[in-house]
Amino acid sequence: MARAKSNQPMLPFDDEASGPAELPEIKSLAEAAIAVQGCTRCSLYQFATQAVFGEGPAEASMMFVGEQPGDQEDLAGKPFVGPAGKVFDQALAAAGIDRDRVYVTNAVKHFKFQPRGKKRLHQRPNGGEIRACRFWLDLERAFVKPLVTVAMGATAVQSLLGSSATITSLRGAPTQLEDGSWVMVTIHPSYLLRMTDRGDVAAEREKFEGDLRAAKALEGKLAGAA
Ligand code: SF4
Repeated sequence: MARAKSNQPMLPFDDEASGPAELPEIKSLAEAAIAVQGCTRCSLYQFATQAVFGEGPAEASMMFVGEQPGDQEDLAGKPFVGPAGKVFDQALAAAGIDRDRVYVTNAVKHFKFQPRGKKRLHQRPNGGEIRACRFWLDLERAFVKPLVTVAMGATAVQSLLGSSATITSLRGAPTQLEDGSWVMVTIHPSYLLRMTDRGDVAAEREKFEGDLRAAKALEGKLAGAA
């Protein structure tokens, strides 16, 4: 897996990407947040309202990565402010994690959807879109340098680990990246919203909160050792 290792990552070339000449040299997270609005590396920019970049302190030692902005995030320009964001906030609070102290982002920065009447129905990004947008996630990781990154859901796992392995098989065991930091895998909070059995939801919510507690414990251990 190719990873950005410094604050001046190489601009990757791939089938889905536009040439690097279209992007200015990016020297900070704040500059990246502006530059992403001009991104044309895949076709998703054509349909969404805006790119939704990550949010949080540039020195955060924990990063959370979801899939892509949803309908409300697309309109607000902020990650995790819709229904899944509320589930996420509750789980963070239950795990004793202060959202203001962590960096929250998505693997794909533009909302992918299918219009259905007045509604916009979420569509999962494909492999090409995930690979194209990894440029921005690599930049965020290169600037923030988190000790622990929590991959929430299959798209985040695919982007961060280049793996299509199931959440179940990866859950509970941290994976070390080439830059020395660690990735922990859990569900995307929207999964809880899609479940129908209340008993299952309660059990899965508990597991989700447990994953966040484990990620926090790992971050504490690594920060203590640093
Ligand atoms: S989804 Fe990502 S790669 Fe595609 S246009 Fe938006 S910012 Fe660029």
